[in-house]
Amino acid sequence: MTETFVIVGGGLAGAKAAETLREDGFAGKIVLIAAEDELPYERPPLSKGYLLGSDPREGAYVHPREFYGEREIELLTGVAATAVDTAEHRVGLADGRDLNYDRLLIATGAQPRRPPIPGIDLDGVHTLRTLADSETLHATFERGGTVVVIGAGWIGCEVAAAARTLGAEVALVEQAATPLHAVLGPELGGWFGELHASHGVRVITGAGVERIAGDGRVQAVHVGDDAIECDAVIIGVGVAPDTKLGEAAGLEIDNGIVTDEHLRTSVPDVFAAGDVANAFHPYYGRRVRVEHWANALNQGPVAARSMLGGTEPYDKLPYFFTDQYDVGMEYIGLHGPDDRVVVRGSLTDTDFQVLWVDADDHVTAGMHVNQWDTIEEIERVIRAGEPVRG
Ligand code: FAD
Repeated sequence: MTETFVIVGGGLAGAKAAETLREDGFAGKIVLIAAEDELPYERPPLSKGYLLGSDPREGAYVHPREFYGEREIELLTGVAATAVDTAEHRVGLADGRDLNYDRLLIATGAQPRRPPIPGIDLDGVHTLRTLADSETLHATFERGGTVVVIGAGWIGCEVAAAARTLGAEVALVEQAATPLHAVLGPELGGWFGELHASHGVRVITGAGVERIAGDGRVQAVHVGDDAIECDAVIIGVGVAPDTKLGEAAGLEIDNGIVTDEHLRTSVPDVFAAGDVANAFHPYYGRRVRVEHWANALNQGPVAARSMLGGTEPYDKLPYFFTDQYDVGMEYIGLHGPDDRVVVRGSLTDTDFQVLWVDADDHVTAGMHVNQWDTIEEIERVIRAGEPVRG
């Protein structure tokens, strides 16, 4: 009998898994279920080229529409999976349909966090996750005026850069002492803060937002004693893994859907990949959940091969990139909060390298700014475990 593999989640992880199933010779039925009424797409352009208006919409698609038809991948868009019966091997859809599966991949991604700030539901307060969000923000920034970005993580910093580039006045508000403090620490975070300030962004750090004021529509953001008048607010305070379907399926959940190194969940024939998966990582000897593009790109295929019975572990080091103004940056590895920072070059320049080194002098992570083609060497140094002094 023909087997049916169902993939829930029309993001990068889901689309790459469907592609890999066919590439690796699976001849059964593949159904890809996507809640958004869009072809599966990649999200990095949404805060960069597509937000700026320099890249076309199609550039974000993982594949053109005909790709799915040619490979007999049944793509159901605009419909969410709402229920899973793992005993009966069935998935229920929001429109009442019910599908059987032999193997199921959950790649439902993540959703922006909405902190309990008074006024967050006013018109003009946005988050950025979808193509539609990016289009709304592009139109907002082009109108000019003042935008307040709450949260100076990756998305907040990229949105601030795009808004500024499109001519809006921008205030970037961050609770921590610097932008990107939690991910890069004070020294590098301070460097990014200066980058934004040098482009005319008002960078406000060490300050929490008390409320967003307005009368139906946003008018000001209150930070301490200051009320920043504004036309729009973008909330960029991180994402939470979208575990609703995993919970409905009764899977083990702990900061995402828990999987082993083959991306198998706690229930037979059910797999997870991408932002939603908290996967055991053989290199680190513990579970790691990664909310980055390369993780979705590479976990999708590994999950597909596991669905086909393969035993390949997912052991890629976490990797991330960002573009802000004329700065391109890549980061690889995973550093601890107490690792020391070794700068190769000077933070007064716009190109340098940084390594994070642990108490045993081993490099745990590294990044570069505008030094393309160096990330493989940084990865080699991390994996080699060679001690670094300095
Ligand atoms: P997603 O892309 O979130 O896709 C999951 C899909 O599943 C969604 O479309 C969702 O609607 C759908 N879904 C959820 N539940 C259901 C359901 N029950 N039924 C059907 N469908 C469902 N990473 C980087 O490394 N570098 C960057 O520069 C970068 N820039 C980014 C910019 C933006 C604006 C955003 C939002 C993210 C960025 N990322 C970046 C992160 C990267 O895009 C994510 O890690 C990646 O999108 C994760 O892919 P995914 O397939 O796991 O999940």
